[in-house]
Amino acid sequence: MVFKNSRQLFVRDLPIGGGAPVVVQTMTNKPASETSATIEQIHALCEAGCEMVRVAVPDMEAASRLGKIIEKSPVPVVADIHFDWKLAMESLHQGADKLRLNPGNLQKKEHLADIVALAKSRKVPIRIGVNSGSLDKKLLKKYGSPTADALFESASNEIRAFEELGFEDIVVSVKTFSVPRLIETNKMLASGFDYPLHIGVTESGTLFSGSIRSSVGIGSLLNMGIGDTIRVSLTADPLNEVKAAWEILKSLELRKRGAVVVSCPGCGRTGIDIYSLAEKVNDALSTCSRQITVAVMGCVVNGPGEAREADLGCAGGRSEGVIFRKGIIVKKVREEDLFKALMDEVEDFLSK
Ligand code: SF4
Repeated sequence: MVFKNSRQLFVRDLPIGGGAPVVVQTMTNKPASETSATIEQIHALCEAGCEMVRVAVPDMEAASRLGKIIEKSPVPVVADIHFDWKLAMESLHQGADKLRLNPGNLQKKEHLADIVALAKSRKVPIRIGVNSGSLDKKLLKKYGSPTADALFESASNEIRAFEELGFEDIVVSVKTFSVPRLIETNKMLASGFDYPLHIGVTESGTLFSGSIRSSVGIGSLLNMGIGDTIRVSLTADPLNEVKAAWEILKSLELRKRGAVVVSCPGCGRTGIDIYSLAEKVNDALSTCSRQITVAVMGCVVNGPGEAREADLGCAGGRSEGVIFRKGIIVKKVREEDLFKALMDEVEDFLSK
């Protein structure tokens, strides 16, 4: 996999682009004005693997609380601003690590100049976030719909507005629900500019369909070497966004984190309730921070062999099962003891 050579910038002390590991981010679902709840949520998201978090700043009350949130956040905080330049200025004064702001949404050019001057003096990058649902009306009229060309032109206009002010600490994102259009637009951006790209499918849907749509869109681009930071947008608890993002990165072998659970689909040979067991193992290992691959397989005949690349695993037989390490059976246990025996084996493996 050859990564496109984007330039590198820093959000607080987190590198984005320029060959740095692809960064996982999400957004809280509470306004910054609900300070304690936002801080609590950020900590839970970080525990799940969130490396940068975006917070909505819809009004001055929210902006004024940002400092407290930033102070307590273990990861950089991005202030999400729409339309009101004063909210951007206040967010910067409060210590925002990054802004998400589209110059085209501001009414006066001098307001952008003020924001840029302050961001520059504080070394704060700004993300441009073009979205197919809120495309500029003139571009919609010109192209008839939010085509890849329209989205690219919109992003180019926003980029130019910053460049004209001598500001190049920019991350660019163009999001759309259409995966083919997402891929096309980001390919255009990657060949037209060297700014780091934030990748995501917008309004991708609920947990199941949205995770799949996002994985196809984000995964396709990452597999081409395009993308420096990602967000999986789901109509679900943002914790799931972080988990899904990590699954994408782990699937592409771009990053490693925590346990990987592999499990077979089950078939006519399955001797145990593999669906429940695999879920239980997944849940039990979801907070494991050590790298380990654990297999849950449905039959003793093929399971250990098929999962020999896993560090260890279990396979079910008729009312009993086996525990194996690297495909070699090390223990036989009753079906009802399989989960506990597997967890004991994991603990033993991790203790060495
Ligand atoms: Fe079927 Fe066994 Fe393969 Fe699972 S491991 S799919 S139960 S043959």
